[in-house]
Amino acid sequence: MKKETAVRRKKVFPEAEGRQALEEILARSRRVVFFGGAGVSTASGIPDFRSAEGLYRQTGPDPEMILSKSYFYLDPAGFFDYYRRHLLYPRARPNAAHRRLWQLEQEDKLRGIVTQNIDGLHRLAGNQRVYEIHGTVHDNRCMDCGAFFPMETVLNSRGIPRCRCGGVIKPSVVLYGEGLDPYVCIGAKREISQADTLIVAGTSLSVEPAASFLEGFEGKNLVVINREKTPADRRATLVIRGGVEKVLTDETEQEETTMDPKREQQEQEWADRIDEDSEETETEKTYRDGSLANECWAQDRENV
Ligand SMILES: [Zn+2]
Repeated sequence: MKKETAVRRKKVFPEAEGRQALEEILARSRRVVFFGGAGVSTASGIPDFRSAEGLYRQTGPDPEMILSKSYFYLDPAGFFDYYRRHLLYPRARPNAAHRRLWQLEQEDKLRGIVTQNIDGLHRLAGNQRVYEIHGTVHDNRCMDCGAFFPMETVLNSRGIPRCRCGGVIKPSVVLYGEGLDPYVCIGAKREISQADTLIVAGTSLSVEPAASFLEGFEGKNLVVINREKTPADRRATLVIRGGVEKVLTDETEQEETTMDPKREQQEQEWADRIDEDSEETETEKTYRDGSLANECWAQDRENV
């Protein structure tokens, strides 16, 4: 086909042209799988962990250290203090990218979403076939009795959130040093292996095992949408440099959706409380001397 040849010849596109080329591919595709990272949620106000403005570049404690398995057990109060303020975004809403993916699932074109994000926004947008390979902040479990708790329980608690039975409530989020859920991985890899089109978006693919998920893809079109280069660009049929929500939709569809007023008020209350708490805490100050960090890193390295 002539169009395909054209796409292959000049394969790195800016947003507007890229959108057109992507639509052509989508029109021909029957089994699309979307593999997304932090860049999918930035338009919802959730910072990208590894980008220039992301959490990793901020001053203060090293997030990879605090968000590790060993730190969780060493200093759970410190973990939750950090977790509430930097990983929970109760006011975040699905953006145009999430909404377009919901639409594609309704059309039965999109067979699955594999996401590295823990914000739950794809499910909030209504998608059913979502593989959250790093877990989700919306699933929290008592470590003793297994009882379920919503994000709000963790958000509204102080210190270490506890179950009625006395057990610690742990978010079902994959921490550094922890393995991924094998069932989620198997499902995600199966979807990818059966796809005719794989869209990899908003991820630099710098974290393993993210990149390994792409290895099983044998379909026709590999589309990469990202602001920066990725290791998958070379293999890709189409590379688009830009914001995910801008490539997936045209501008008229990028407005915010309205929110239930009750929910809006609740979210405002959460947001106010988080703002009140946002000054650096004593625990956070002690992270700065580095001794805890070294201890954690040593433990994590041994575990790997
Ligand atoms: Zn319990």
